[in-house]
Amino acid sequence: MKFMFSCKDIHDQASQFIDGDCSMSTKAGVLMHTLMCSNCRLFIKQLRQTIVVIKKMPVQEYSNQELDDIADKILSKDQHS
Ligand SMILES: [Zn+2]
Repeated sequence: MKFMFSCKDIHDQASQFIDGDCSMSTKAGVLMHTLMCSNCRLFIKQLRQTIVVIKKMPVQEYSNQELDDIADKILSKDQHS
């Protein structure tokens, strides 16, 4: 099992990770990496926000702060599950 992902791994796996379309070990690896790498944390957050915005776009607009809060909630929930 691979726990230490490189930044390239994170970029490769990010969309599957966000969709939940990845294995538990991939999920754990991505989360472990984002705990230590602020660049990838930001990358995942921004990608996630983009997806949220796209899904919600016709109905509602979120502020950056609201999207940050949502991303934080999702990330912290994943870490503890
Ligand atoms: Zn990284």
